[in-house]
Amino acid sequence: KLLTSNSHRSISITNLSRYITTLILAEHESGSIKPQTVSTVVAANHLGESSSVSLLLAGSGSSLQEAASQAASCHPSVSEVLVADSDIFEYPLAEPWAKLIDFVRQQRHYSHILASSSSFGKNILPRVAALLDVSPVTDVVKILGSNEFIRPIYAGNALCRVRYTGAGPCVLTIRTTSFPVTPITESKRATISQIDLSNFKEDSVSRSRYMGQSTQDTERPDLGSARVVITGGRAVKSVENFKMIEKLAEKLGGAVGATRAAVDAGYVPNDLQVGQTGKIVAPELYMAFGVSGAIQHLAGIKDSKVIVAVNKDADAPIFQVADYGLVGDLFEVIPELLEKLQEK
Ligand code: FAD
Repeated sequence: KLLTSNSHRSISITNLSRYITTLILAEHESGSIKPQTVSTVVAANHLGESSSVSLLLAGSGSSLQEAASQAASCHPSVSEVLVADSDIFEYPLAEPWAKLIDFVRQQRHYSHILASSSSFGKNILPRVAALLDVSPVTDVVKILGSNEFIRPIYAGNALCRVRYTGAGPCVLTIRTTSFPVTPITESKRATISQIDLSNFKEDSVSRSRYMGQSTQDTERPDLGSARVVITGGRAVKSVENFKMIEKLAEKLGGAVGATRAAVDAGYVPNDLQVGQTGKIVAPELYMAFGVSGAIQHLAGIKDSKVIVAVNKDADAPIFQVADYGLVGDLFEVIPELLEKLQEK
């Protein structure tokens, strides 16, 4: 799959690899660190053997401190948890958060700055790169050394090997589905330090303003990290019919996904979109009902362990990537499946 490479340009990486100090922008919610942050720590461990990893948590109040305490033991390779506790960081606005990373970097000098390729990380890290006047390397799926990475291009149809040759810190966003977290047996607690923000200056002219946030109360697992994903396509035809997909997801303890066509038709909200311009998923089981298998959709599911597809059309491209394919009508197959699962 490796199509392009600029590896002919040679610079010595041995010196760099000796001094790897990584700052990771952590994501947390309700007093807990998100799984994608731990995957980003796993990725940081591939940068080189002699590396130290610091996690940066920003926010305000008791849930931030709870998350910091959890972050201190989230992975044995984390040596320090830095906490920026201020009302300025109550909401994840890109401008102050990017400035915070720059502020911390000026005091502690990191060779690498990482965040996950979530919408949170993708909002903030390019701005950090702009502040530092460096080129970010985004969507990293493999780390070959401290400055050599593999990332997808052309909607995931080719993998590109890139070497970072900039003078400043290497700024990376990590596609976390490529860095699974293995069970951690070693228990080790990192130190927790509160950042002194007395010299931190906010922009006098703020370009963005927090308006509100809406989250859906659901028992279902997060789409990006679910072990089972059940996806419906345009063929599901309505909001009402999508309830079948939801019911199946509930039965299998999975998350619901959708194609862009289903989202555009208004059957489900757009945070359920899977694919190039949606979420990248890598579950153990991915079930696609009435999904044609467009290249932009496949870009988001190709790391799934087992893909099951149900489609009326035997020539649908989804069958080329499916491990199990059933040519059939989803309106017959899903009720039958629900009935059989009921019996168990
Ligand atoms: P269709 O392509 O219309 O397929 C419907 C399928 O359902 C057909 O294969 C049909 O045979 C089958 N079917 C019909 N009735 C039944 C039935 N009763 N039972 C079983 N099967 C049935 N798409 C994404 O999904 N995610 C993205 O992130 C994304 N990003 C994009 C980015 C760009 C820049 C562009 C240009 C496009 C993007 N798209 C994305 C859109 C993508 O190209 C496709 O249009 C979309 O994925 C098609 O969705 P679909 O499979 O639901 O619909």
